[in-house]
Amino acid sequence: MIPSRGRVLRRERVYRLNVDMEFIPHRRLVQTVLDAMLPTEIRVFAPDEEITNSLEYGEEVVYEGSRTVVAKDWLPLACQSIAWGSTEGDSRGYYSHNLVRALLGGVYGERAPLGPAAMTGEVVIANCMSFHDDRTEEAFCFVLGHELVHAIRYLSVIVPAYMGWRAFRRSFEVGTNAQDIVCSWIDTRNRFVDHYGSETEKQEVGDFWPACLVEKWWDAFHGRDG
Ligand SMILES: [Zn+2]
Repeated sequence: MIPSRGRVLRRERVYRLNVDMEFIPHRRLVQTVLDAMLPTEIRVFAPDEEITNSLEYGEEVVYEGSRTVVAKDWLPLACQSIAWGSTEGDSRGYYSHNLVRALLGGVYGERAPLGPAAMTGEVVIANCMSFHDDRTEEAFCFVLGHELVHAIRYLSVIVPAYMGWRAFRRSFEVGTNAQDIVCSWIDTRNRFVDHYGSETEKQEVGDFWPACLVEKWWDAFHGRDG
């Protein structure tokens, strides 16, 4: 915050999704994956809505907010970059973000949150993924789809902050454990897609891409024949 004669300077921010890949084939594949996204609606919380962690992995009851948005349209809010990077162990990618700092003010809400304009998110794909044939290209598409699903799930709490920052902030009254609840809600939601190699993982990716593509990508990545 830069006070200037009692006023606060404000800047507008335009959200864009940039593809930061060194080699043309990867860039083309990323564009293919983005272009193939279905206009799937997801549920998000309203700015003044309490985020309750009624979400249970493997249970029927999943509360994901009262509003709906088309995930594809809002994706740049959660992810502004797709890039190469190094990953740990067998991991082929990850979604990295500063949501806790930007929207919640730290793990314990100990600092003033920076606000939705400072929110950044990035999908990183392991730079060890190399292409020998169509199959490895399809495996790459699956990894990218999986990581984008993570970014999409974060939209449920990013969109309300963006739509009504003051109301969103007000829902975190002193004495509530809202930060814990938000992080726990997100962690639980991420467990669905992180059920690696399962029908659940396939369905999570299948929510946002055509089934014929997801089948091919999933088989290529998880090493099934056919
Ligand atoms: Zn994951």
